[in-house]
Amino acid sequence: MASLAIENGLIVTMDKERRILKRGNVAIEDGKIVSVEKAGEARSKYRAEEIIDATGKIVMPGLICAHHHLYSTFARGMAIPGEPAKNFVEILEKLWWKLDNALTKEDIYYSSLIPLIECVRNGTTTIIDHHESQSYQKGSLEEIARAVEEVGIRGSLCLGTSDRYGRGKEGVDENERFLSLLSSRSSQLLKGLVGLHATFTVNDDTLDKSVKLAKKYGVGIHVHCAEDKADEDENLKKYNMRVVERLNSHEALGEKSIAVHCVHVDEKEMDILKSTRTNVVHNPESNMNNAVGCADVLGMMGNGIEVGLGTDGMSSDMLSQMRCSYLIHRHVKKDPRVAFLEAPAMLLDNNPKIVKRVAGWRVGEIAKGALADIILIDYLPPTILNENNFLGHLIFGLVDATVDTTICNGKILMRDKKLVDLDEKSITKKTSQLASELWKRL
Ligand SMILES: [Zn+2]
Repeated sequence: MASLAIENGLIVTMDKERRILKRGNVAIEDGKIVSVEKAGEARSKYRAEEIIDATGKIVMPGLICAHHHLYSTFARGMAIPGEPAKNFVEILEKLWWKLDNALTKEDIYYSSLIPLIECVRNGTTTIIDHHESQSYQKGSLEEIARAVEEVGIRGSLCLGTSDRYGRGKEGVDENERFLSLLSSRSSQLLKGLVGLHATFTVNDDTLDKSVKLAKKYGVGIHVHCAEDKADEDENLKKYNMRVVERLNSHEALGEKSIAVHCVHVDEKEMDILKSTRTNVVHNPESNMNNAVGCADVLGMMGNGIEVGLGTDGMSSDMLSQMRCSYLIHRHVKKDPRVAFLEAPAMLLDNNPKIVKRVAGWRVGEIAKGALADIILIDYLPPTILNENNFLGHLIFGLVDATVDTTICNGKILMRDKKLVDLDEKSITKKTSQLASELWKRL
């Protein structure tokens, strides 16, 4: 008997054939999808303990954020003292480095809960997070892990090690501690990577130790890469190498590694990303917010580089991020023919591939054998919806529709737009109090 069945929904499978079933049923057992059939067939084979009626809803795979910063929550509404930051490095110095250096153990846990809840609300069921908390590094990943498991989505976690305050060794140690912890206790929702902040704040010794650690545990490196021109300038000045060249010379790249942003990489660096099969993650809203430029991800994708999509902590809403990506590349290229295929592909095709490579999870498809991460969206198509025009509905309709139900690992986390296990009001009351205390400490 299946534990859960979803019936009568319009199913966007994202399976190999990219099938769309006008009315279909999905059966789930032990956290996996055991059957996907046209309506009428699944129930005959699987009697389910619990049935969700998805009439009038789109049923699609849970969405993936390939680069997130859960710790960014307390920056919301925060007034930064002094003159406004005039460039990327000043944004780091005046805002993000001050914030992460003030986080306590309790802050890390509670500030993680909020965007995780927003993931559930927006149908994001897997995130690849990148954490920083310079004054509380040891044990920080366990706090985030606790929040991830309590909320119930999947998270690949790491700490972005940095030598900016001389605490590089502590960062490497925390990544090791967490990876070792994961290898000793199995979790269906947690994985780890070795994080680095960015090469311009990481010395060669820390870089080598991180690569050695990643090899020991068979995982990749998750690092901000050429987000701003300052990153390239600093590496050229200090090491006479561009960012990607330096990462490559230390063997930090590869198909399990993630190079985030890549806004300022040149052609030679793109060739290295391609030949090493390194994953690139594009974060268009963040890049616009920090005014760092627009990465040539269409060029990269055309060249065979795997480019996924993240929010960089700006939000947990992947459909709006997808549309932002669709818009910015048309605008920048001054060409209304581009990005229609690429923007959805980053989210729906490449993010699942990246997650499979870096975390081993089979997600992003509604197919027999895949993990049961599924969302239901309120959407009555006002025009015909089929395999040939789904992307038009995705970009111009689904992007603004409401997620009704979120299921991860076969467990219902939100139903009828209500969180099943979490008391959001009491959590936000606590985060509001913690944030006020943190702001006073800055
Ligand atoms: Zn980031």
